[in-house]
Amino acid sequence: MSDKVHLGHRARKRFGQNFLNDPYIIDSIVSAINPRNGENLIEIGPGLGALTEPVAAQVDHLTVVELDRDLAERLMVHPVLKDKLTINQADAMQFDFSALARPDYKMRVFGNLPYNVSTPLMFHLFSFSGCIQDMHFMLQKEVVNRLAAGPGSKAYGRLTVMAQYYCKVTPVLEVPPTAFKPAPKVDSAVVRLTPHAELPHPATNLKWLDRVCREGFGQRRKTVRNCFKKLMDDTVLESLDINPTLRPENLSLAQFVAMANWLDANHGNATDNNPANSDEA
Ligand code: SAM
Repeated sequence: MSDKVHLGHRARKRFGQNFLNDPYIIDSIVSAINPRNGENLIEIGPGLGALTEPVAAQVDHLTVVELDRDLAERLMVHPVLKDKLTINQADAMQFDFSALARPDYKMRVFGNLPYNVSTPLMFHLFSFSGCIQDMHFMLQKEVVNRLAAGPGSKAYGRLTVMAQYYCKVTPVLEVPPTAFKPAPKVDSAVVRLTPHAELPHPATNLKWLDRVCREGFGQRRKTVRNCFKKLMDDTVLESLDINPTLRPENLSLAQFVAMANWLDANHGNATDNNPANSDEA
């Protein structure tokens, strides 16, 4: 039988469908999530239930968001899951997760994410981080490396700074392509993202933080002085304890936020006169 057909379902590439098929890996992920009854558990992309079934075996209820109508309909008639799930047939990228917030428990979000949209999906979820307890995601290993990177490394970029702005990042487990059906072309890894109870370096205006990241990481070879010369001079950089001869990839999250906050206090709109339009994350 074709590698693309799993449990009678033909995997849809456009929905990033690679179904988990390795009991040891599935067990390790569920142990990392450690679901408890009563928690506000939300799975993105339950698919054929590889994670949903073992999580549901430990709790009375969970909520799922699944874009593929056929898969959502399968879950609605699933003999065990149908009574335990609240099924939202919806696009997680557009989904208002605050609608699932509960006063008693913050949300615990997890999923083997569709790799084609995982980065924008995480940015979408960061906007709800105030009502999220933690997130466990299967991602491309390269994306987990970027999330967890430190200044000065090749993997350090806009995604790193924005993820670490909101969350503590903990890589949990590496997963080979053979754990999926169909097997993806890349290695995968599971990461735990735990939103900070209080932001360690709060930005007064996220638009400025986004802009300094885009400008910095869009021009990685330039010095900080040259990258930001339209926005601030050496005197300002030095007053923020930033060496103008460094490259932007050497700056810490705290330094990016210090630049953004200075710009917010001393400049107008973050989107005015923006020379850098790079989408590099
Ligand atoms: N959880 C299953 C597993 O581990 O076997 C499936 C994982 S598969 C990598 C990704 C799942 O996300 C698929 O079920 C796919 O249909 C669903 N999906 C893709 N894009 C989505 C979106 N924008 N919103 C919600 N679900 C989506």
